[in-house]
Amino acid sequence: MTAEGRTPPDPQELIVVEGDVGEEDLEFPGYLLASVGTRGAIPGHKLEYQLRWTELNLYAVTDGTGRYVLQVVGRSIAYHRAGGPCNRGVEMRVKDIPEAVYHDLEACQQRNCKPEELGDLPVNTRVRVERNRSSADECPNVDGVVAALWKPRSRLISGLDELAKDLLTEAAIKDSAFLRVTRKRRVL
Ligand SMILES: [Zn+2]
Repeated sequence: MTAEGRTPPDPQELIVVEGDVGEEDLEFPGYLLASVGTRGAIPGHKLEYQLRWTELNLYAVTDGTGRYVLQVVGRSIAYHRAGGPCNRGVEMRVKDIPEAVYHDLEACQQRNCKPEELGDLPVNTRVRVERNRSSADECPNVDGVVAALWKPRSRLISGLDELAKDLLTEAAIKDSAFLRVTRKRRVL
């Protein structure tokens, strides 16, 4: 155990966290400290919500600097009618959809969009396929993690506040440095 209560794993694994397209990927020795996601967490949500969800992954960097890496992943398995009202995703022919993605995709249920099932569409039909988005933030310390969690992002992520609190709570179980931000004490 270090002074901060962290237990570095042995051996130190090299981790690569993906940034968004065109952004940097971050490579470092470390381990996954906490991971939370919204998918399936809220029963009763409409299908629209289950087509997109957010994951937060927090890594501890084990090079002695006390840094962390926060990854925010916006996942989507939605596809839309090309030329439809949604105008989201990347347009491609059904036959060009990568195999790894094809079987996970679900039709958007917005009125006037609702494309047919992929298997029922002629292979040359164009659809718009949403992609996952990922950002990787280097955080100098615990406060840096908190700042990165609540910084304004280009896209609106619904439910991020609750998810961020869950992430910090989970991190505090393994890393007592996070207790300072999850528990607040008022002296009377
Ligand atoms: Zn749509």
